[in-house]
Formats: sequence, C-alpha cells, structure tokens
Amino acid sequence: MSAVFGLDQILSGGTEFVTFEEGKPKTLLILDWFDKLGAIREHYEPSLNPKYVRCPGKEVCPLCAANPGKFPALRIKFRIYDPVDQKVKMVSLAKSHIQKLNADFNLDEVDPTKAFVTIHRTGKGAQDTSYSARQYKANPEQGKPAYELPDLEALDKPDITPQLTAHTPEEIQNIMNAMVAGAVGSGAAVTGVAPAAPAGDRKLPF
Ligand SMILES: [Zn+2]
Repeated sequence: MSAVFGLDQILSGGTEFVTFEEGKPKTLLILDWFDKLGAIREHYEPSLNPKYVRCPGKEVCPLCAANPGKFPALRIKFRIYDPVDQKVKMVSLAKSHIQKLNADFNLDEVDPTKAFVTIHRTGKGAQDTSYSARQYKANPEQGKPAYELPDLEALDKPDITPQLTAHTPEEIQNIMNAMVAGAVGSGAAVTGVAPAAPAGDRKLPF
C-alpha cells in the first residue's frame, strides 16, 4: 500500500471497513474465510477515539479495569473484495453473524472465496440485527451486472494483522486520558480511569 489520505482512513490504519445497512445488500468476494478467519476481543466505547479498542486481556487492560462488568465482544475480521469499487476492504462481525453467514453459504453450496455472494442485513440495532447471504447471480437486465473475479495475486490487499493485534495497555490508557482531557476541556493530561458508561450506553453495534 502506498500513500493514505483522509482522517478516518489514517486513524483506521488505512483500512476501509464495510458497513452493512438494512435494505442495501452488498455483493462481495470473501478473501479470508475458513482457516484464514481471525478474531479478537474488542471494546466499543462511542466516547473514545478510536471507538473500537482491541483488548489485550482483562488482567492488563485499563478499559476492563474501569468497567469490570462490561466485557469486550469477540469480533471476527476478514477481508473482502468489493467489485463495485474494485477494492479490498475489511469486515468485522460478531461470531453469531459469522455462523449465520456460514450456514447460508452451506445451504447455497457456495464457496464465498470463489464466487460472489450478496450479504443482506435486517435490523438496525444491536438486538434485532441479523444477516443472510446468497450466491450472487448476475442478471444485467435487472441491474445485476456480471462481475469479473479479480486477480487475487495482483490485488492491493491491506494487511489484516494490525486489525487482529491488541492495543497495548499504554495505548489504551492514552486513549482514555485523551477522552478525559477532552471532556474537561483543559487539554491537560488527566490520569485516571474513564467513568463507567451508564447502562443505556451498553448497546453494541451488532
Ligand atoms: Zn479490555
């Protein structure tokens, strides 16, 4: 990968994540599946920047220490090829959603690393969201163009390793300090732990 532009892109390590929305199915080819899937536990804290903090383990994690009742969720990460943008992007989903997609691929008898699949999301919130998948069938007359499989060797593929590497306790403490400093408006470094989020903030985006 060469130069990276855009604040979000830079903050996310130059990686573009796919966001699935209800009523907007996405067609893609999965690059990492089966043995290549990776998972990591992640905190979701909307008040922090970044919002997603990869947990180094509750024994050493300052966020776990600050919120003992709030567990980081297991997130499965993999790369996909987006045939519309002709780019490789990243997907992060909960285990239950991966299980559902895998079951759908099996029902359809499709290998999502060899053929395009369309992923549908229903629901918007943490509790009501579910996913389903079908093999993509081109039908140009109905606005479904025939996509060409990419040359996987030639594709510019972002490294998935940083997305599966935990933040260090020091990094997490700095992220939390930045939030506290921002909240008091002084810009000064404040040590200490983030206040526990109220119960209503506990919704996760999956
Ligand atoms: Zn943690």
